[in-house]
Amino acid sequence: MEDECYMCDAAATSKEHAPPESFYPKGYRSNLIKVPSCAEHNEANSKDVEYVRNVISTQHGTNGAAARIFEKTKRSFDHSPKLAARTFRDLKPVMVEGVETGAFPVDLARHKRVIAAIAYALYFHNYRKKHRGDWRIFTPSFGYAGSVHRGEFDPWEWFRGYVESGQYKPMPVPQPEVFRYGLLEMEQGQIIYRFEFYERVVVMAWTRFMTFAPLATIWLPGR
Ligand SMILES: [Zn+2]
Repeated sequence: MEDECYMCDAAATSKEHAPPESFYPKGYRSNLIKVPSCAEHNEANSKDVEYVRNVISTQHGTNGAAARIFEKTKRSFDHSPKLAARTFRDLKPVMVEGVETGAFPVDLARHKRVIAAIAYALYFHNYRKKHRGDWRIFTPSFGYAGSVHRGEFDPWEWFRGYVESGQYKPMPVPQPEVFRYGLLEMEQGQIIYRFEFYERVVVMAWTRFMTFAPLATIWLPGR
């Protein structure tokens, strides 16, 4: 039987890496997770992937694998100052853990699209079937602009702690310095993924409903 795409019902014509291969610097590319993909859902050369990888790999506190990605990114920025300006638009200095660094607004629509594609691909990889619903995405590692720049109360603080407190089952990955993930299976087939990039940037992706005893079913805010 011909393979179908991890995301739609079209015939697969290629393999998509999860996460996309460009997240992995040279030397970290063996045994990557791959799923069958149609041309439309293969993000190999997507500008969104490049943007999101650049945002994630330049976050404060990421590791040496991210630094190697950034060296390459810097070269493409040298060739295209416009690309750099678009990625780090409105960059402002902030203090993080006593170190001065920069903060910039993230294009969350693009970020969510790329992270959701990774979630669809990993779901297919883990369950050998497609997730037919959508994904909610939340990135505890991104600060809330009001508190980062103006010291305001962060309305997401409780939620950061809340989603981080789950018991996620560590899943096997080929290159944990670039990407690792955990899985929490809830009632009624609902799941939460905890993604971790470059040993620092945490992104959560979950299917629509989550139920936590003793709370009733709650509708988690999208962001
Ligand atoms: Zn497809």
